[in-house]
Amino acid sequence: MNRFAVIGNPINHSLSPMIHNEFSKEFSIEISYEKILAPIEKFALHAEKFIQNGGSGFNITLPFKIDAYSFSEELTSNAKAAGAVNTIKIENNVIFGENTDGTGLVNDLEKNLNQNLIDKEILIIGAGGATQGILKAILEKKPEKILLANRTSKKSLKLANDFSKFGKVCGFGLDQIKSKPVDIVINATSAWIDGEMPNLPGGLCEGALCYDLMYGIETPFMKWAHHNSAKMVSDGLGMLVEQAALSFNYWLGKKPNTSSIISLIREIVD
Ligand code: NDP
Repeated sequence: MNRFAVIGNPINHSLSPMIHNEFSKEFSIEISYEKILAPIEKFALHAEKFIQNGGSGFNITLPFKIDAYSFSEELTSNAKAAGAVNTIKIENNVIFGENTDGTGLVNDLEKNLNQNLIDKEILIIGAGGATQGILKAILEKKPEKILLANRTSKKSLKLANDFSKFGKVCGFGLDQIKSKPVDIVINATSAWIDGEMPNLPGGLCEGALCYDLMYGIETPFMKWAHHNSAKMVSDGLGMLVEQAALSFNYWLGKKPNTSSIISLIREIVD
C-alpha cells in the first residue's frame, strides 16, 4: 500500500487526509494518509522516520515548508522559485521536493471560478510564505501586472525584486494602496487570526474578484469585500483541493476530479 502523510504543527485541523482518501477512491487505489504532528525544530527527524517506515511521499504544512525545502535532495522549478516545498516524493531513494500551492491557486481561479488571468491587474496583500508560493504561477499566466502590498514593505519589495524575472510585479507598503479598482484582490495575509483585515480603501474591490487564501470561515476580508461591491468573493478551499490534486498526481501519476471533492469538503466545513 502507498503510504502518505501531512506533517505540520498544529495538524489536527488538516483536511488533507479526507481529501486524499476521496481522490484514492476515484482510482480505486489503496492508500494510507496520516497526520503527523512534529514539534518545532523536529521536522527532519519526523520526516526521516516516516521515510524509513516506508512512506512514499508526504505533504508539508505550516510552519515547515522552508525546512522541507532544505530537506529535499532534488527540487522542481516551482519549489526553487518559491523557496519552499509542500510536497515530497521518495523515488529510487531520492527525496524530491515540489511546490503545488501556486498552480493549485491558478487552477482554482481558472477552472472553478472561470477567471482568465491574462492582462488582469492583480493586487496581492501579504508577502509571507503563501505569497512566495503563488507568485511564479500567477506571473506565468501573463497578467498585466501584480501589485504586491505588505504591512512590512521591505518584504514585498524584496519579493517583487526576486520574482520580476517571471513578469511585472511591483512591491510597496499597505499605506500606498490606491482606491482605484483592480481586477482581482488576493488576501494572502494571516490577519484573520486576530479577527482583523489589512486596512484597505473600499473602492479597490468594486467589480473585482476578491479571493482569501484562508478557508472554512468567512474572514473579515471576505465580509469587507461583500460590503464594498466585489463582483465575486471566494475563500481558498478550492486552492486547498487543487494543490492536493497536484500532489496526488506528483506521487501517483493520476489527476483527480476536483470539483466533486470541493463540493463534498465544502459541505463538511461550512
Ligand atoms: P505567513 O505567516 O508566512 O505570512 C503572513 C502574512 O500576513 C505576512 O505578510 C504578514 O505581514 C501578514 N499579516 C499578518 N497579520 C496582519 C495584519 N493584522 N495586517 C496586515 N498584514 C498582516 O503566512 P502564510 O503566507 O503562510 O499564510 C497566509 C495565509 O494563507 C494563511 O491564512 C494561510 O492559512 C493561507 N494559506 C492557504 C492555503 C490554501 O491552500 N488555501 C495554502 C497556504 C496558505 P508582515 O510581513 O508585515 O508580518
